[in-house]
Amino acid sequence: MNIHEYQAKQILQKYNIPIYPFQVVKNERDIEQAIDALGVSEAVIKVQVHAGGRGKAGGVKIAKSRKEIIEKTKQLIGMKIVTKQTGKEGIICHEVMITELSDISKEYYLGMIIDRERAKPLLMVSSEGGMEIEEVAEKNPEAILKVYFELDGGIGPTELEDICHFMKWEGETKNQAKEMIRSLCKAFVEKDALILEINPLTEDPEGKLWALDAKFSIDDNALYRHPDIAQMYDPTQSTPQEAVAHEMELAYIALEGNIGCMVNGAGLAMATMDLIKYHGGSPANFLDVGGSATQEKVAESFSIILSDKNVKALLVNIFGGIMKCDLIAGGIIAAAKEIDIKIPLVVRLEGTNVEKGKELLKRSGLAIISANDLTDAAKKAVAEAKK
Ligand code: GDP
Ligand code: MN
Repeated sequence: MNIHEYQAKQILQKYNIPIYPFQVVKNERDIEQAIDALGVSEAVIKVQVHAGGRGKAGGVKIAKSRKEIIEKTKQLIGMKIVTKQTGKEGIICHEVMITELSDISKEYYLGMIIDRERAKPLLMVSSEGGMEIEEVAEKNPEAILKVYFELDGGIGPTELEDICHFMKWEGETKNQAKEMIRSLCKAFVEKDALILEINPLTEDPEGKLWALDAKFSIDDNALYRHPDIAQMYDPTQSTPQEAVAHEMELAYIALEGNIGCMVNGAGLAMATMDLIKYHGGSPANFLDVGGSATQEKVAESFSIILSDKNVKALLVNIFGGIMKCDLIAGGIIAAAKEIDIKIPLVVRLEGTNVEKGKELLKRSGLAIISANDLTDAAKKAVAEAKK
């Protein structure tokens, strides 16, 4: 789950990461009060959306007077942001951050992710901060240093020395960098993060380091351990389908294709998408109803998939293990009664009570294209979507 920059900064402040004072406003009438609370006459104003590249998209503005702060903040509230990461529909900004305008001598990059192959958290630093790190990685990979740290959030003294040497941090800056990196590693592990990125990490003219931006993404499966973070979930930053799926605890990800997929189990969902691709089609989504889905969840999944206008055919691929095939069939029938399914529906059922399930579907009178196995199902769905 992604959170906003200001929420990430609230968390990082608790880890003593240097962050310039900021205020967040949702309404025009709160702007003056926010400026007074900051006590500034110059500021940076930033849209709070779940996407990077805001600067380039016009979502980061510098204001040099009180009047300018007010005007520019008004412009950004409700603004639609379109970046590489949002798709062409863009996302609407509902919250705006007003923060102290800082003096920047240097911009660096710092990012952390989980390296799944090594099963370790990985820290990356570069002195080419501010700009897109993907570009640096492609054109100038030696400008990025990668260092592993421990699963308990600890980082070794040698690693810290290597980082400071690579980044040419010396004296007081070096001391501060070490402390900051130790705290960031700790925050990454303690908060079950998948991504923690500070871009840019800046140095001021006195040599002090600051986290000017912060991107924090938390593992959904660990959110039960972080109720304070779980409540930061912002449905306005996802598609309506994703928001409903979140509420229903369905794993749903929208994709570019035109074959809607309803599958139980992530592995089976991946295999289904692979087979669709293999047979010349393209999946419209990834949807895992889970191993213990109820009839209600099946029905909800249907409506989520069908509300996507790109979907030209629907493939239901269920292996009834814990979840029984007759129950699945019941869910499909219930959903079909509520929603008028205008597109071809291909169903492949296998597992517990499969005969009962197939019988139910047959008797329902629904125009279902039944498939014998996964390959057959994928081929039929691809053919239907092409009609
Ligand atoms: P992003 O584009 O979504 O990553 O947004 P950032 O918060 O990283 O801001 C983009 C850029 O705006 C930064 O790389 C800085 O160059 C600039 N910027 C942001 N805050 C300040 C500031 O306080 N002072 C100055 N001079 N530039 C800033
Ligand atoms: Mn940034």
